[in-house]
Amino acid sequence: MAYDFDLYVIGAGSGGVRSARFAAGFGAKVAVAESRYLGGTCVNVGCVPKKLLVYGAHFAEDFEQSAGFGWTLGEADFDWTTLIANKDREINRLNGIYRNLLVNSGVTLHEGHARLIDPHQVEVNGQRYSAKHILIATGGWPQIPDIPGREHAISSNEAFFLKELPKRILVVGGGYIAVEFAGIFHGLGADTKLLYRGELFLRGFDGAVRKHLQEELTKRGLDLQFNADIERIEKQADGSLKVTLKDGRELATDCVFYATGRRPMLDNLGLENTGVKLDKRGFIEVDEQYQSAEPSILAIGDVIGRVQLTPVALAEGMAVARRLFKPEQYRPVDYNMIPTAVFSLPNIGTVGLTEEQAREAGHKVRIFESRFRPMKLTLTECQERTLMKLVVDADTDKVLGCHMVGPDAGEIVQGLAIALKAGATKRDFDETIGVHPTAAEEFVTMRTPVAG
Ligand code: FAD
Ligand code: NDP
Repeated sequence: MAYDFDLYVIGAGSGGVRSARFAAGFGAKVAVAESRYLGGTCVNVGCVPKKLLVYGAHFAEDFEQSAGFGWTLGEADFDWTTLIANKDREINRLNGIYRNLLVNSGVTLHEGHARLIDPHQVEVNGQRYSAKHILIATGGWPQIPDIPGREHAISSNEAFFLKELPKRILVVGGGYIAVEFAGIFHGLGADTKLLYRGELFLRGFDGAVRKHLQEELTKRGLDLQFNADIERIEKQADGSLKVTLKDGRELATDCVFYATGRRPMLDNLGLENTGVKLDKRGFIEVDEQYQSAEPSILAIGDVIGRVQLTPVALAEGMAVARRLFKPEQYRPVDYNMIPTAVFSLPNIGTVGLTEEQAREAGHKVRIFESRFRPMKLTLTECQERTLMKLVVDADTDKVLGCHMVGPDAGEIVQGLAIALKAGATKRDFDETIGVHPTAAEEFVTMRTPVAG
């Protein structure tokens, strides 16, 4: 049967754009539908604008620390409207770049909501298109628990477009987004509280990293409230919010920001017209080659709920394009040793196993840890300390995991990820000459394992 397209991609986010461009580059006839914004979550309401706001927040400490280097500055004043307007301009520019990338690679762009009509057809803006393969790359959406007053809460989607910087804000959650945004709002001068329902935030990260970040954020005056969860939110006559916690405490604030995970974006997608199945958590179920229960339909990225990171969606998009249209270049995505950063202030950078995971997997481990005051801070009052940690297999000497909390941790860990992926041993680390004077050299100079 003749189809309109070889591949129809639903969603022009990280994974969808990558897959569409490469498939078109391999000679396939490709279309992409996008209902909201080109570049998807990462470009519009995720990684990119988030990082710009983190940079914005970081200036507060740069100004403070500059005094130790002899600078006298006037009173610093921050204007949220300027930051948001400049951020919006940059995002508009990136939207244009994404449009050009698609069009220049020969992909047909349909701007509108796509709905599946059957296993080979989608409908966009009242038009139907058929395709041999359909790729669902519709990403995710913030999930706010159903508590009384949830309509008064915002999510990351709204946080990027607030008209003004709230004077007081409660950030709820203990994952990437909560920790990053608590740092952003605190750095920009809002009175910020982070509420997390468990004992200690960042579940799944190395225990030493979680504890170290807790200490550093507390030193900076960020109010961390653990074992705390909201029961209800009520709007007051003056526009402020009264928040009642499950333990009965009441808090007054101007903004409640929920960062409690993301659900797959399946709204009005027409999955019921196909044989696509969902997994237990509600994400699209796919096999190792991203094929759903409906043979003509594939899915990648956040909508399959494996690892919700842009570089992972890119790798999955590339794998699909290659498998379908350039099989001789196909390589499966390797989910081991995925490096990641939390752009808190200070940053976390991590790759490989945590100490807890390594022990649980049965490794006998040697642990190397270093805590030190970064050189830049020695002329300042700032008492921040950096943490670096290596998890090493005692039998094979292989480095199983690298973890850092400190300035530029994300930048440093990217290079270490290559070493770990190549199977580097602790001896390889020891035999590597450091770059002096840097913080990163500490990773190659740790000699004595932590006792125990
Ligand atoms: P998306 O990028 O979400 O793209 C899906 C696209 O599909 C969207 O544009 C959507 O409008 C469109 N769409 C949905 N339904 C339809 C439909 N029916 N028809 C047409 N179009 C549709 N990851 C990192 O690696 N580093 C970070 O620093 C980072 N920071 C983040 C910060 C925040 C606040 C958030 C929310 C996420 C962050 N992420 C980060 C995660 C990252 O953004 C996602 O993992 C990534 O965007 C997933 O890509 P995707 O292609 O699966 O989906
Ligand atoms: P996460 O899954 O990282 O964290 C969700 C947090 O919310 C957890 O602390 C969880 O607690 C808590 N939570 C979940 N449900 C509830 C509830 N009903 N009530 C109270 N607390 C709740 O999700 P995020 O929203 O922070 O981010 C989504 C994903 O986006 C991340 O997992 C990450 O993959 C990606 N991302 C990546 C970034 C980066 O690379 N720098 C930055 C931002 C996002 P508990 O641990 O107890 O379950």
